[in-house]
Amino acid sequence: MKAFVLKGHADVGFIEKKEPSLESRGGVLLRPVVVSPCTSDVHTVWQGSPKKKDLTLGHECVAQVVEAGEDVKDFSKGDIVAVPAITPDWDQADVDINPSHAGHNFSAHMLGKSIDGAFQELFYLPHADKNLALVPDGVTLEQALMCVDVVSTGFTAVEEGNVKSGDTVVVMGIGGIGLAAIMGCRLRHAARIFAVGSRPENVRIAEDLGAEVLNYKTIQCGLPEGMHPLANSTNSAVVNYVLEKTKTKGADEVLICGGSDLSFPQAVDMVKYGTGTVSNVMYYGASDSEHENGIDSLQIPKFSIGRGMAGKTLKFSLAKGGRKRIEYLLSLCQQGKIHPEVLITKRYDGLENIEQALYDMKDRKAIKIAVTCSHVGHI
Ligand code: ZN
Repeated sequence: MKAFVLKGHADVGFIEKKEPSLESRGGVLLRPVVVSPCTSDVHTVWQGSPKKKDLTLGHECVAQVVEAGEDVKDFSKGDIVAVPAITPDWDQADVDINPSHAGHNFSAHMLGKSIDGAFQELFYLPHADKNLALVPDGVTLEQALMCVDVVSTGFTAVEEGNVKSGDTVVVMGIGGIGLAAIMGCRLRHAARIFAVGSRPENVRIAEDLGAEVLNYKTIQCGLPEGMHPLANSTNSAVVNYVLEKTKTKGADEVLICGGSDLSFPQAVDMVKYGTGTVSNVMYYGASDSEHENGIDSLQIPKFSIGRGMAGKTLKFSLAKGGRKRIEYLLSLCQQGKIHPEVLITKRYDGLENIEQALYDMKDRKAIKIAVTCSHVGHI
């Protein structure tokens, strides 16, 4: 069968692979129905740490069950299922308290990382009953596809940031994840949402979702009068603007969903003292140049952490995954509370187009892309 694999650093392509087998009684074999390449696939290919040879990429997928292991209770041949990007290793003793990193770091980021991913004609997934979710009536395949990673990640930023009714929130980055975070902030009745980004297509969607977009390329704003110059460590006009609009208090939450290494000190600068939370779901690539002290690091502005006493919370999270999580997100689609399909701005038909779709993501030619692999209804 055909598989789209990582051959080596910055080297991808299709190879012939042996079909997978059912490796456990609780596992399933799945045929992709519709898949999406992700910016984290781009990281894996061009920036990531070495992976096993010829690893199949892909972790955003709606699939059809082709074969279920004998211990699988809730899924059978022919079912259409949403496959979460994050699938906890339910065999680990600490999975109930630490699902993302049970047993070892990033153990739940399995597909396309430690086991072959979804960009092949047939793939294996363990723990089907605890990881898969049936796509319910009234939810489209494209909605389900957006829930498995993008919505889950954006909502993780919102949940870990503890966004509350009436809050002022800054969402940094308006790619798919930032836009999903805006949806999550709306669901929690945030009073004011600033979104930082510039791409016109994304700006339009962010505004439709009710955010006030701050274009970091064009915005002009000075530091509010009376503030200490160190309060804005990067001299960012976005930070100045948020400080001004919050009467120098800062935002209740800053959600980092995209940007650069500078997003982090900026977030710390513009979050409120005492109760503010910076909630990060962004991937930071390896630093371009060595730091003076030799540490591959982000910078924390000392002034804005109150020299160590500001009472600000900093969180760094992997998206939540597993069956219950995705069922919840699918139910929001079913009730019409979110419409994540608006994030899909490009479509291809045929798995053979996944390479082009991946390059489109790398070159930022779409927000999200849906690649249809098989037309459902027959196995
Ligand atoms: Zn993804």
